[in-house]
Amino acid sequence: MDLKQIKQLDQQYYMPVFGERLPVCFTHGEGATLFDTDGKKYTDFLAGIAVNALGYSDEGFIKTVQAQAAQLIHTSNYFYNEPQALLAEALCKKSGMDRVFFANSGAEANECAIKLAKMRAYKKGMKTANFVALKNSFHGRTLATLSATGQDKFHQPFEPCTYNWTYVAANDQSGMKDAINADTCAVMIELIQGEGGVHPLDAEFIDLIEDLCNKNDALLIVDEIQTGMGRTGKFLGCQQAEGVHADIITMAKALGGGIPIGACLAKEKVASAFSPGDHGSTFGGGQLACAAALYTVKRIDDKMLYHITDLGNYFKTVLVALKDRLPHAVADVRGLGLMLGLELTESFSATKIRSTLLEEGFIVGTAGANTLRFVPPYIITKPDIDELVFALVKLLQ
Ligand SMILES: *Cc1c(COP(=O)(O)O)cnc(C)c1O
Repeated sequence: MDLKQIKQLDQQYYMPVFGERLPVCFTHGEGATLFDTDGKKYTDFLAGIAVNALGYSDEGFIKTVQAQAAQLIHTSNYFYNEPQALLAEALCKKSGMDRVFFANSGAEANECAIKLAKMRAYKKGMKTANFVALKNSFHGRTLATLSATGQDKFHQPFEPCTYNWTYVAANDQSGMKDAINADTCAVMIELIQGEGGVHPLDAEFIDLIEDLCNKNDALLIVDEIQTGMGRTGKFLGCQQAEGVHADIITMAKALGGGIPIGACLAKEKVASAFSPGDHGSTFGGGQLACAAALYTVKRIDDKMLYHITDLGNYFKTVLVALKDRLPHAVADVRGLGLMLGLELTESFSATKIRSTLLEEGFIVGTAGANTLRFVPPYIITKPDIDELVFALVKLLQ
């Protein structure tokens, strides 16, 4: 089929939530390169929104998925499951957590985290469930995760919210002090707000939240759906610098290397709030998804993390140089590892630049206010980065 036919079917039959999509349909990929229906090549700096960590057509990944698909795809959680047990062990060991639950998406992993925190509060005898989240956050599209998302435009039509949420601006220490008290069930944060525009939290702000959570016996839920799986140069964002001590960590996006899977990890003292029957999933933790995730997790080894840090530093240095050279165009450079944002000034539109870059064969994202977002596959190279920046320089004159 050609793009016109595909577009016609999409516009007639798909719900209009994605509106007019970017005018490209990809047919296959190789490494960090995607090819469209016209055979045109693109270098990918989006990775299916921070999902395709190993890029496309990774030989070992394909072999693993093919072998697992041929052997067994799904049997339900009534039964024991070898890939699930092995992935549970691998993720707990890598994260320092004690237990895991597998879901099918990021929102579902966060939904599990919110239910778990609510269950723990319930068992403590707390009648109301008060949660704290950050303004400009993004935690998903289910009703509870929409409530956690501190952006009015996302949840206003769907109110009332699930549970009581107080939203504090990122890095607002006094706001956070006012928000957390003995009635707080949990605080949910992203270490770097992804969809919100690639905004990292200050270390002191995170320390303060940890401290307030400890003092008030509230749980700290860290949403690592985007920052996890090596994205920032450590296996988890929580493992940067002196470390963040989360009670619950959620993961998804890159976890399955492109196959849908989400994970909610927790410390034993928290996970034990759940009893048999309190939560579940038909698809969650199926053999195919777990085998894909186990393979992907194994590939995020020290060598890969070093590579992510090295390329991330290089990429950021080049972007900062771009800011110094084109101050009329670049307002800010933010992020860590291979999760970077380039905020443009009012003279330029991030969505327009994204479209022009796409025409020129570069796939980038946008996030938050007028910000270009780069979350490439980890196999991206320095020459790929140089080519993108060369194209950017021309567009931002
Ligand atoms: C993408 C994302 C989600 C939602 O994940 P889905 O798989 O789309 O449900 C939640 N939190 C963060 C931080 C994300 O980046």
